[in-house]
Amino acid sequence: MRKFNPPFNGNRYVLNKNTGEIHDLDRETELCHINDISSDHIYAGDSYMGCLLYAQSNHCPSPNGCFYCQPEHDNG
Ligand SMILES: [Zn+2]
Repeated sequence: MRKFNPPFNGNRYVLNKNTGEIHDLDRETELCHINDISSDHIYAGDSYMGCLLYAQSNHCPSPNGCFYCQPEHDNG
């Protein structure tokens, strides 16, 4: 479910800068534990690619789609 408060600001995709995991809030599951991610570790963007590029250009751990909400981007 999308969140309209900062740092999400209604964006669909959420990168956990600490782990490189990227979530799709439109397909979020309970197992994503979005609410457990520290707001300091969140980058929110309107596309998966935007989160991927942010992670790559900010030296985050290798970006990877969440197993639960982005299985097509989950590289293990
Ligand atoms: Zn997820």
